[in-house]
Amino acid sequence: MSEKVAAVPIEEMNASVLRARREIVLERRPVPVPASDEVLIEVSSVGVCGSDVHYYQEGRIGSFVVDQPLVLGHEAAGRIVAVGSDVDPGRVGSRVAIEPQKPRLNSPESLSGRYNLDPHMEFYATPPVDGAFQQYVTIQSHFAFDVPDSVSDNAAALLEPLSVAIATARKAGFTVGSRVLIAGAGPIGIVTAQVARAYGAAEVIISDLDEQRRERALQFGATRALDPRSDRIGELGLEVDSFIDASGAIPAVQSGIREVRAGGTVVLVGMGADEVPLPVPVIQNKELVLTGIFRYTNTWPTAIELVRSGKVDLDSMVTSEFALDQAEEALRAATDPAGLKAVVHPQSLAGAEA
Ligand code: ZN
Repeated sequence: MSEKVAAVPIEEMNASVLRARREIVLERRPVPVPASDEVLIEVSSVGVCGSDVHYYQEGRIGSFVVDQPLVLGHEAAGRIVAVGSDVDPGRVGSRVAIEPQKPRLNSPESLSGRYNLDPHMEFYATPPVDGAFQQYVTIQSHFAFDVPDSVSDNAAALLEPLSVAIATARKAGFTVGSRVLIAGAGPIGIVTAQVARAYGAAEVIISDLDEQRRERALQFGATRALDPRSDRIGELGLEVDSFIDASGAIPAVQSGIREVRAGGTVVLVGMGADEVPLPVPVIQNKELVLTGIFRYTNTWPTAIELVRSGKVDLDSMVTSEFALDQAEEALRAATDPAGLKAVVHPQSLAGAEA
């Protein structure tokens, strides 16, 4: 019997709710009750992602449409405050990072090891599943990963975008001595550059239209930064082992593919144009492998180790921090090229008394 029993410490919480496009309201909501295999987490930090901004500004991402109130935020960490009936009560008090997905583990995709592709996936902040811009969330116990004290709350939250970069690294085959080209020096481009270096890449070349972003990429481990307006990307003969698009920009995808060596790999990570004309003869004649990534599987242990060991620095990526009732400001900050990563702290309120 899977009764929903848990000693939930409080009954109501603050939640930042997207009610309509560009309209976020602070609501009082019941604290979720963990199912038998879940834990209840008091959320400490939530990173703001490009996908949150898309839902806020456009109310949709492709076929995912916000047609009822939605809590945004899927890059989250916190502390376990209660557990479901089947979970070890010894977990209460643990600081954890959340892998924000709930696949159906008996689907063919999950059974083949690719649970990220499970069609029955419930994923935080993807309609109709609420995310973490609220004081408490639940997740299955196995997707709440203990983090060491040396990993801060903010870094624990940003293990999620780091996981995207690790999934990318695996697809691209980053290894010792790799030469990598990355288009786009936003949060995903920067964290992917860091992961490439951590995996031993010899050269990490990054391109971005914005000068500040190029500078920042160099600080985070890129070995060379290109300006797509003046550097003739596509004609440089870089012959990189892999090209990662983290921009979603059509010219970046088209020119980056032309810089890959024969037999190399292209990974499309950035979300932008839905349709991109590709240089088909280049892909054919060089037998390039071209793929996308959709989230991640089994990346948190690797992510935790990369941060614990100091090989990846997530704390320095945080450029602004906000209270829960400042979620809209946080979403706006996430689109400012002068910043890199905005973080929301759901336990704090900036304005009215709690
Ligand atoms: Zn994200």
